[in-house]
Amino acid sequence: MYRYLWEGMPMNALVVEDERNLADAICKILADEGTRADVTYDGPTGLSMAKSGMYDCIVLDVMLPGMDGLEVVRELRRANVSTPVLMLTARTSTADKVTGLDAGADDYMTKPFETEELLARLRALTRRTGDVIIEELKFGDLTLDLTTHDLRCGTRSVHLSGKEFEVMQMLMSSTSRVVSKRDLLNRVWGGNADASENSVEAYVSFLRKKINHVQSTVQITTLRMLGYRLEVIE
Ligand code: CA
Repeated sequence: MYRYLWEGMPMNALVVEDERNLADAICKILADEGTRADVTYDGPTGLSMAKSGMYDCIVLDVMLPGMDGLEVVRELRRANVSTPVLMLTARTSTADKVTGLDAGADDYMTKPFETEELLARLRALTRRTGDVIIEELKFGDLTLDLTTHDLRCGTRSVHLSGKEFEVMQMLMSSTSRVVSKRDLLNRVWGGNADASENSVEAYVSFLRKKINHVQSTVQITTLRMLGYRLEVIE
C-alpha cells in the first residue's frame, strides 16, 4: 500500500453494503464531497475490488452476503492491503466493535449515523497513515519514489512532474488490472471540466518517453477501449 498524499476527503472510496438504499445514499454523500465512490453489495466482490489497491478508503458493512465484513477485512490485511477500513455495524455491543478492530478495521460506526459523522470519520481515516508505509512502488525493473517523485531503473533516474507522477502512481498501484482513462481522469484531474481523455493520452505519452529514457523493460500498454496496463517486455 502507498502513503496517503491527500488531505481531507479521500479521492476514491469503495462502499460495500448490501442495503442498497443505504449504499446508494453513502455514495451520494461522498459524491457531494467530491469523492468518487464505487459500490458493491456483497462480500466476495467487495474483497476483490478492495484488493485492486486503487481505493483511499473502504466503507464496509459487517453483515454481508457471501462473506461477512470481518472476513473481508481479515483477508485484505492478510494480502497486505492496508487501505483504511471504516466498518459499519448495526450492532452496538462492545464485543463486536473489538472484533472489527481486531480483524484489521481502522474505525467503526454504528448504524444509523449522521452524514457529518461519516464524513468526519473518513477524513480522519485518510489523514492517518497506515502502519505499513511504503515509500516506493515497484514494477518490473522500475521503482517510483513516492517522496521525491523520481522514477528509477537501475542507476538511471528521471523526475516526474505532478500529473505524470500521479498517473504513474495509479498505474503502478493497479498492476493486476487495467486502468481506464476515465479512472485516471477522475483520480488525477478530479473531474476538472477542462481535462479530457486527450489530457490522459498526452501524459501517458510523456511517461512513455521517460520510461524509455531510463531504459526500462516496462511499457505502458494501451488496451483499446479499456485503458492502460503496465507490462514487462520480454
Ligand atoms: Ca448488511
